Amino acid sequence: MPKKTSKARDIGIDVAPPKATCDDKHCPFHGNLSVRGQILSGVVVSTKMGKTVVVKREYMKTITKYERFEKRTRRLRAHSPPCLGLAEGDKVTLMECRPLSKTVSFVVIEKRGTTA
Ligand SMILES: [Zn+2]
Repeated sequence: MPKKTSKARDIGIDVAPPKATCDDKHCPFHGNLSVRGQILSGVVVSTKMGKTVVVKREYMKTITKYERFEKRTRRLRAHSPPCLGLAEGDKVTLMECRPLSKTVSFVVIEKRGTTA
């Protein structure tokens, strides 16, 4: 695939493309990674892996017997394109992509502000 210009690729989802650019081949906007499947959201809890972030997702699970909900938490790993400049505490949107490593098959496609 020919090298793209600085203009971000249209990834087919209604998100604002990042203002910065990067030369990461696993970036959905500036590289060759295609995204498909699920869209999830969460909060970045660790950026220590460099190009991968750990994202925490909280969801409610229904307990039918007691007709109540309980809060559950899952952490998943996602690829972090350098152009998004993610930090711990950022609210992000993830999208499924091909498996990039044993544990990474999501990529961050949007930064939606930070948690206080
Ligand atoms: Zn990029």
